[in-house]
Amino acid sequence: MAYDTQPTASHFIDGAYVEDSAGEKIEVIHPATGAVIARVHAATPAVIEQAVTSALRAQAEWARVPGTERGRILRRAADLMRERNRDLSVLETWDTGKPLQETLVADATSGADALEYFGGLAASLTGEHVQLGENWGYTVREPLGLCVGIGAWNYPTQIACWKGAPALACGNAMIFKPSEVTPLCALKVAEILHEAGLPAGLYNVVQGAGAVGGALVTDPRVEKVSLTGSVPTGRRVYAAAAEGIKHVTMELGGKSPLLVFDDADVENAVGGAILGNFYSSGQVCSNGTRVFVQTGIKERFLTRLAERLKGAILGDPMDGATNFGPLVSQAQREKVMGYIAEGRAEGARLVTGGAAPDGPGFFVEPTVFADVTDSMTIAQEEIFGPVMAVLDFETEDEVIARANATDFGLSAGVFTTDFARAHRVIRQLQAGSCFINSYNDAPVELPFGGSKRSGVGRENARAAIEHYSQLKSVYVRMGDVEAPF
Ligand code: NDP
Repeated sequence: MAYDTQPTASHFIDGAYVEDSAGEKIEVIHPATGAVIARVHAATPAVIEQAVTSALRAQAEWARVPGTERGRILRRAADLMRERNRDLSVLETWDTGKPLQETLVADATSGADALEYFGGLAASLTGEHVQLGENWGYTVREPLGLCVGIGAWNYPTQIACWKGAPALACGNAMIFKPSEVTPLCALKVAEILHEAGLPAGLYNVVQGAGAVGGALVTDPRVEKVSLTGSVPTGRRVYAAAAEGIKHVTMELGGKSPLLVFDDADVENAVGGAILGNFYSSGQVCSNGTRVFVQTGIKERFLTRLAERLKGAILGDPMDGATNFGPLVSQAQREKVMGYIAEGRAEGARLVTGGAAPDGPGFFVEPTVFADVTDSMTIAQEEIFGPVMAVLDFETEDEVIARANATDFGLSAGVFTTDFARAHRVIRQLQAGSCFINSYNDAPVELPFGGSKRSGVGRENARAAIEHYSQLKSVYVRMGDVEAPF
């Protein structure tokens, strides 16, 4: 059974689909054709109130459910997601325009990994015993309460699960607001979680743009906000959350460096640079978009890169042969074309690509600029599109300093066959998620997140538990109380 692109209703609240057509209309556009494939409505204040009150009611019960039982539900949901991977992937491709070739292996599957991983951890979330002479203490790991998740449009299913799974494992409720550009798949995540046995109200999905996100973030009943988005949005959401002294996780943007030393295996380095710039048409936060190449390997690297990019097949993302899809929207395409124009104007050398093909859809060719210098706009700002900037370097110390000369700090990668150098360099790079002779792997077992302005907190791995729970300390006196009077 393939999923309809038009959802039953706009929101999923308290275990059921909910509509309120008074909310602003949002047209869902298939990025490969520009066709309208669904219509939903932004959440009205009444819808938000329903989401909050049902979540609070459900969370009070859920916090008392043993971890083994919470975990069982999450793992059952993971199984259902894997069984329906193809249908979920097709829907994700309709929504985002990413090639089916990608969505089949990187979206619902990654979401299922998170549900399975945190489902497995749920039973082992314990506190500790602390002996204090004859007295003693203990800690209890408690949920935070009602958490809000706000997603970006590049990995809608994955983000919905990366936030929902640890939140639910720890005993919280979550209200998730997808990006208004990609509202479809989070609804399926909610459906599946409830089908797996999640009590109604624990995972609600509401649609809308920034205003709906803002209303949720400022609601005094919300204890935690987890945002995946750009740095400017992160700044606004963090500030709004700070007003209410709420917990936050901020997964924000980047302009990450990828360092290719002369002794690197050139095919692997080119492969890493392709993955780190052109997967999902470059719409990946951790992309290594500043590719620093040591001068001795530069010409070989650029030659092989240009040759291998001829293998990019732009086209209908539903076609199994297509490996390069459109950008998510016309607005994003215009933004990316603006950066390409700026790269040319500032004197970078266009090696390949640079055009937006005619015809329907929001395509931009995979684009490589060489001879890029640190001060050029395309080396400084996050483009979030298929635009790679290749910069030259001579020495290790020089490239480390230049790689770190940015406010971002999400990711960094090194290609070299000298392992001592690989570890020495990685230690000095200011980034949260790093790669040696690889790029953009994001297994659920490893923490993911940024340093500097790229974020606060970590998703995935045990580290995420810290961000969805809090410790209660209990001191126990065994003898009499001594008081001064
Ligand atoms: P945006 O920052 O534009 O939006 C992110 C989300 O926040 C959207 O759901 C948006 O709603 C919502 N939002 C916007 N304003 C507010 C507000 N004032 N209060 C509450 N919510 C608000 O990001 P994009 O969707 O354009 O995604 C691209 C960005 O996301 C890039 O910078 C990218 O690097 C980053 N990203 C980071 C990742 C990470 O893990 N570090 C992973 C993926 C992407 P709406 O869009 O519907 O208006």
